[in-house]
Amino acid sequence: MQQTKEAILKQYFGYESFRPNQAAIIETVMDGQDCLVLMPTGGGKSICFQIPALLKPGLTVVVSPLIALMKDQVEALKGNGIEAAYLNSSQSGPEQDQILWQAKLGKLKLLYIAPEKLFSGNTIQFLKEWQVSLFAIDESHCISSWGHDFRPEYRQLNLLKELFPNVPIIALTATADRVTRRDILRQLGIENAPTYVSSFDRPNLNLTVLPGRKRIEQIKRFIHKHERQSGIIYCLSRKGTETVAASLQREGIKAEYYHAGLRPEIRSSVQEQFLRDDIQVIVATIAFGMGIDKSNVRWVIHYNLPSNVESFYQEIGRAGRDGSPADTALFYSYMDIITRQEMINNSEQPMEQKEVLKAKLERMKQYAEADICRRRILLSYFNEAVEQDCGNCDVCRNPRTRFDASIIAQKALSAITRTEQKIAMGMLIDILRGSRNRSVIQYGYDRLRTFGVGNDLKGEEWAEYISQMLNSGVMDIAYDEAHAFKLNAFSEQVLRGQRKVELVKFIPVAERKAKEEAQ
Ligand code: ADP
Ligand code: ZN
Repeated sequence: MQQTKEAILKQYFGYESFRPNQAAIIETVMDGQDCLVLMPTGGGKSICFQIPALLKPGLTVVVSPLIALMKDQVEALKGNGIEAAYLNSSQSGPEQDQILWQAKLGKLKLLYIAPEKLFSGNTIQFLKEWQVSLFAIDESHCISSWGHDFRPEYRQLNLLKELFPNVPIIALTATADRVTRRDILRQLGIENAPTYVSSFDRPNLNLTVLPGRKRIEQIKRFIHKHERQSGIIYCLSRKGTETVAASLQREGIKAEYYHAGLRPEIRSSVQEQFLRDDIQVIVATIAFGMGIDKSNVRWVIHYNLPSNVESFYQEIGRAGRDGSPADTALFYSYMDIITRQEMINNSEQPMEQKEVLKAKLERMKQYAEADICRRRILLSYFNEAVEQDCGNCDVCRNPRTRFDASIIAQKALSAITRTEQKIAMGMLIDILRGSRNRSVIQYGYDRLRTFGVGNDLKGEEWAEYISQMLNSGVMDIAYDEAHAFKLNAFSEQVLRGQRKVELVKFIPVAERKAKEEAQ
């Protein structure tokens, strides 16, 4: 008798009901369709392929880049009575042979495999002989060079659909903006597959940006306010983690540093002590956190600006996994941007890739410099429209002056419409302000009806308002098309006068500084 997905959920995982999207995703996969799943970390992606694996005859192959996590996941499955195994380069030849043998005999429901293993030796040939009923591609953003964690060994996965045209593919990720999502689908050869996006909102996380001056002193004060509460401080460099940890230790705070230069035994011991609450503070590079499941991390501080919003969101997401309030703070000064820009310029990346990294850094800068609700910015990055300010970020707590900017927005959006959504910031401002420069004239933009309709505002005001509009999701930006602005559903409503746009009154930087110093 065929079991239902609900019965499996209860029997093997012990849960009563599905979370949003899980049931629909499982049904899509059971229908033999491909799909892309976007869910935040901890959102419950695994069940989306594990339940189909149990419902379908044959084997589900799970591609995953993280060898360490593979082992944990397989053990958890076995603990729930599910026949699972993994294959990777850390295993001996005989060990691997035994697993292949089990799979051949049809004794496995799930086989976890690293991408390089999938395409080496005879693996593909074996899979062809066995009954593979589903491919699950975990961390699927790694296939895209638009993503923030591109892995060349993932690229070969573009052969899967050709090799196995009748086997559905479910791609999963916790971190992909719109451009990356499109690229994942294209790379996997499943362009028309539906995409399921779950909410990324974590309302219990308080968001704050702090001025990047006297960071250590601010951190000490912060930790004294968070007595005995576990926290993570992310630093850019290994050296940075060591010096910050040392100054906290001198204050009598139980802090340790963690980075990829440490011996594996030291790393796991520091991690263990943190999990047991023997260490209060971990000062770490981005090497820390992947796959660490500590639910009571109460705060995360970024000592330096992260390189992109995806990483930032994943890192602060390690706080408050239990759903109770947690604080996040980001230090920011303009120097952080310069440092990051130089890192990009000096890297060995191809030109095109550098442009992507710069565009991503720019979005991070917009978050740090925001005059509007910071959560709106984060969520709009993942293309989630937000109706209301969150009330749980520093901007919401100290509101800037807002005004009805619907007319301003309509002017900008109609200029974008009339130029066929091909223009970026500089050109848009020139058109709005009626600047007759060479490229404006070359494209005939001076003959548009919107030409010069915004000459009551200065260029810097327009720049500010346009970034605010972008940040609140009034329109989109395509950084794979020379940063051209694109209309979305929100834009259409504004243009039709069905939705208002509120923006924060522009204050020139000089005035803003004077005000802050007077406080
Ligand atoms: P992800 O891979 O998205 O980071 P997981 O698949 O590891 O997340 O799931 C995170 C946690 O949520 C796990 O402990 C999992 O058992 C739990 N979980 C998943 N689905 C449900 C559900 N429908 N009800 C309750 N808990 C769930
Ligand atoms: Zn807010």
